[in-house]
Amino acid sequence: MLLPELRAEVARYARKMYDSQLVRASQGNISARDPQSGLICIKPSGIDYELITAEDIVVIDENGKVIEGKWGPSTETPLHTLILRRRHDIHCVMHTHSFYASAFSVVHRSVPVILAESASCLGGEVPVTPYRRSGTEEFAEMVAAVLGDGSAVIWGNHGAMAVGTNPSHTFSIAHALEDSAKIYTIARQLGDPVTLPQEEVRQLRESWLEYYSQKALDHNS
Ligand SMILES: [Zn+2]
Repeated sequence: MLLPELRAEVARYARKMYDSQLVRASQGNISARDPQSGLICIKPSGIDYELITAEDIVVIDENGKVIEGKWGPSTETPLHTLILRRRHDIHCVMHTHSFYASAFSVVHRSVPVILAESASCLGGEVPVTPYRRSGTEEFAEMVAAVLGDGSAVIWGNHGAMAVGTNPSHTFSIAHALEDSAKIYTIARQLGDPVTLPQEEVRQLRESWLEYYSQKALDHNS
């Protein structure tokens, strides 16, 4: 089996997405790239999260061609491959239907930076795309354009997407987005939420990136 460790990691994080209610039923998807070979491990289409194992994960190339796998790859494959081809600083793409981020997607509102922890993870306000039907090249181009070099983006009337260096990092970003959306919604009921100053967000983000790049160096040495 090709890339057994990365496939197992993708399967494990797919189950974690389900267990922590970032997705339900067979919704959402996750992919991760092997930086050495450039091959991508992606969730198959329509498989129950609870049952996913490494063998179910499909290996594709950067253009979406299936290299190894017993199922078809996710219907959002064109988006995953486009983002991974464009962004060399990240190796994982996660699409979620978490409740509060999805509520923001319905009112087409970006998620502001209100928590120090989320500021480090998200690096700025999370933008929202207009509504388009997903699964096409046109949709992929639109999401990539709105994401830019950011860590997350909301899909209008649909859900959210996070990108990161690996599944664990990307899982933290997806949760930071959901926490921010949820706590902002609760805070609005108490009063006027205060957003963090931009300069503070920049500094928090910088020290967080430094910490993670040091961790990566320690891991590789
Ligand atoms: Zn979806």
